[in-house]
Amino acid sequence: MAIRINLGYIDELNKYGAEDVQLCYQCGDCSTVCVHSDDIFNFPRKSMRRLQMGLERKIETTLEPWLCYYCGQCSDQCPREADPGETMMSLRRWLIARYDFTGIASRFFRSSATEVIAILAVALITGLFLFIYGKAGGSISIYDGEGAFLPSSFIHFFDLAIGSVLAVFLLINAYRMWHLTMNKGVSVRISPWLYLKHIFTFPLHFFTQKRYAQCESKNRNFIFMPWITHLGLMLGYVTMLVLVMVFIEELQHGPEIIWQVHLFAYAASLGLIIGTIYFIRSRLRKTAYVQFKKSHSTDWVFVILLFLIVITGIGQHILHRTGYYEAANITYILHLMCVVPWLLRMPFSKWAHLLYRPLAMYFAAIQKDALKKQLRLSEDHMITVK
Ligand code: SF4
Ligand code: SF4
Repeated sequence: MAIRINLGYIDELNKYGAEDVQLCYQCGDCSTVCVHSDDIFNFPRKSMRRLQMGLERKIETTLEPWLCYYCGQCSDQCPREADPGETMMSLRRWLIARYDFTGIASRFFRSSATEVIAILAVALITGLFLFIYGKAGGSISIYDGEGAFLPSSFIHFFDLAIGSVLAVFLLINAYRMWHLTMNKGVSVRISPWLYLKHIFTFPLHFFTQKRYAQCESKNRNFIFMPWITHLGLMLGYVTMLVLVMVFIEELQHGPEIIWQVHLFAYAASLGLIIGTIYFIRSRLRKTAYVQFKKSHSTDWVFVILLFLIVITGIGQHILHRTGYYEAANITYILHLMCVVPWLLRMPFSKWAHLLYRPLAMYFAAIQKDALKKQLRLSEDHMITVK
């Protein structure tokens, strides 16, 4: 089969963040230092080589970029300062664009102006729609119940509609990822039983991100802060998503607090506020860990929008509980003007790694099992032939 080479691949990847790939002279130090690299999934050296050779098709079918957690140890060790950790990050951005069938992700990654304009447009449409809806059916001085500006029953329906759009895009993209990596990308036969056998790999990695914690083994600190903050941030917004999709009526009810629901919301908000401040501060100072030294425009959009969501959400809650209903309603619209574009950009942004990374862990476990089985069969065959 002919091998397709894209001579402009390195230049293309430049737009996704990787700038120093050409400096690599293939010494392999990065793969040696990486705690996640093994005989079957060997990286980041191999990815650097494939990039240098323009083997675009090879990279789009590999899981390796998803098995990297960007601890940055390979970049610290690289004698040529080729920054392989950042290259793996850029490859993940490129793969997100590759899985996305609409082409929106590619536009966002390659042009910050396009992304900002799209976000502002979605925010304005959302704000206008909610304001007109509120004015038409309710009073701005009523927060919940009869005659409310934005009744929680309507917001519940609104959230479910946005959530459904999000789910459709993500499922289609996840299918495309499966097709590229498990259908086109493997040469061994994969039995359906293996999909069942390793099914728990997905929730395990989704909820613990335990591979990120393993990066610590070569670090000096007792707690690997990027893992803790990344996990805290992820659990924070997943908790909020579940609360908003399922318990919005309890959340919006007031002024009394429904502790069984609000307690989770307070804990999630605290995790989100600490996490976003930590990420913004680290990215501004560029000193904490190597992964904060370079920030793509999309990283900033993600964390700034999330910060605004948390601030407006807390503001709206306080204003509601203290009886400033007009201000609470306006702040709620501002809050949703941040939430809707933040959610809708998910399938087209780095945030999609929330789904793709645990999926990759799942697929990788299946591939390893299938490969080992095939190796055993070949050995048995050789013994028989002897
Ligand atoms: S990226 Fe750096 S450490 Fe890795 S193979 Fe290339 S030169 Fe060596
Ligand atoms: S950033 Fe860390 S996990 Fe990723 S390839 Fe480098 S050493 Fe491995």
